[in-house]
Amino acid sequence: MAVEHFDVLIVGAGLSGIGAAYHLKTKCPGKSYAILEGRDAIGGTWDLFQYPGIRSDSDMYTLGYNFKPWREAKSIADGPSIRKYVRETASENGIDKNIRFHHMVKRASWSTPDASWTVEVEIGAEKRIVRYTCNFLFMCSGYYSYASGYEPEFEGRDSFKGQIVRPQFWPENLDYSGKKVVVIGSGATAVTIVPVMAETAAHVTMLQRSPTYMASAPAEDKMANWMRAHLPAMLAYGITRWRNVLFGMFFFNMARKKPEAVKKRLIGMVRDQLGPDYDIETHFTPRYNPWDQRLCLVPDNDLFLAIKKGQASVVTDHIDSFTPAGIRLKSGKELEADIIVTATGLNLELLGGLQVTVDGVAKNVSKSLSYKGMMYSDIPNLASAFGYTNASWTLKADLTCDYVCRMLNYMDRKGYAEAVAINNDPTMKAEPWFDFSSGYVQRAKDLLPKQGTRKPWKQYQNYALDLVMLRLGKINDGTLTFRGRPAAAVANTNQPQAIAAE
Ligand SMILES: Cc1cc2nc3c(=O)[nH]c(=O)nc-3n(C[C@H](O)[C@H](O)[C@H](O)COP(=O)(O)OP(=O)(O)OC[C@H]3O[C@@H](n4cnc5c(N)ncnc54)[C@H](O)[C@@H]3O)c2cc1C
Repeated sequence: MAVEHFDVLIVGAGLSGIGAAYHLKTKCPGKSYAILEGRDAIGGTWDLFQYPGIRSDSDMYTLGYNFKPWREAKSIADGPSIRKYVRETASENGIDKNIRFHHMVKRASWSTPDASWTVEVEIGAEKRIVRYTCNFLFMCSGYYSYASGYEPEFEGRDSFKGQIVRPQFWPENLDYSGKKVVVIGSGATAVTIVPVMAETAAHVTMLQRSPTYMASAPAEDKMANWMRAHLPAMLAYGITRWRNVLFGMFFFNMARKKPEAVKKRLIGMVRDQLGPDYDIETHFTPRYNPWDQRLCLVPDNDLFLAIKKGQASVVTDHIDSFTPAGIRLKSGKELEADIIVTATGLNLELLGGLQVTVDGVAKNVSKSLSYKGMMYSDIPNLASAFGYTNASWTLKADLTCDYVCRMLNYMDRKGYAEAVAINNDPTMKAEPWFDFSSGYVQRAKDLLPKQGTRKPWKQYQNYALDLVMLRLGKINDGTLTFRGRPAAAVANTNQPQAIAAE
């Protein structure tokens, strides 16, 4: 059977994959491409997660694409609105026609003589194997496992007589009204779920081992909405986007330079909401500095309002075991529950679990250095879209897509078939990819690539610096190494190829 060939294969039809297709279509219009998506829907994260209240925890002016203004009133948007935005981008630009659903990409083998990837895909429930070839592989597969979330072992779990619910696999039609709910965790998911469930549940307890920093913000951005009503859409969007980028950078830098002052301010904001009698020290004073882990956003103070109304409460303690009636804590206290929600986090997974070989040699990205936060040392013609830890994902994903298009156009102009980042500097030290102390990063640190101590191997987590490096920096920077079109690949172009042209 003829193997179908594309110039570029994009893996994943989430926010990044649809964005990548848009950039490719507009900046490299001659390139054939397809999106291979393992699930049956567009939207990735914003289609998978269905728990009550699912929403962004960063503003949509920076989580939205740089090319498509966010037009809804809420800046902190609910999941279905974000999914609609991604789907609209796909349909408005004819990208949806190029998506192949139920295509789970498992393996990719690079052949230097052919200057191409052979990508092995499992299709559908029967896992029929199909192969494609492509010149460039663009992984837009997110950063966590879709198959499982992270769940610690809880002693006595099976003895619990109520229902245990995992946020990543929220049961359709779960009726929690009038029920006692315990949500384990105090990350973004728990902070989202608790106030929404508290509206109808008998009571919701947020059970945390240790506190997280919370920052309140209005769900609607009044200034952005005013500008949208009075200025051209792209101008209003651009101004708000830059204002939010600059504020985010300022806040992050302040947190790194003056952690005590920022800590005081953040905790003060919680105290203002919950009042002087609330035990802020135990429940809302983290043991780390602000931005050593991602901050949790509390839109319109919803969590604090639920606590003030007595609909929700916070318990800071350690779990001893599950019991038939709920959870026994190390302090000896018992929490009764009809439903336990394990908002205990994600399992990080890089490149969608892809196995990579280069000329028959298995490559493990955890052994590689990340080049400009998107390519991997010694792995040719492969990039991945990966967002910021301290700002919205799409800011970096957009820059990555733009850079990939620039690189592909540069290679075409010069007649190159292969681009590979090679570290020739023996003094370059390898450091962890992220300097985050969050559990999900620490659990996965051996799976993640490393970063170097200097450009272009260092991750600055800084949109302004990346903008300069990725939009304006030279493609041929002395680290990215190019090779011309090998003879075998030239010969192959004479053979008929099934190319999906737009
Ligand atoms: C609950 C939640 C809330 C979040 N909120 C924010 C926020 O407010 N701000 C922010 O910046 N970030 C947030 N994030 C991070 C978020 O994932 C990104 O913002 C963004 O949605 C990532 O888009 P993506 O397309 O890169 O990845 P995803 O949304 O994860 O999409 C990846 C797609 O690739 C597919 N895929 C994966 N592996 C394969 C494979 N091997 N073969 C075929 N298909 C594959 C998946 O099925 C999926 O459709 C949040 C994450 C979660 C889980």
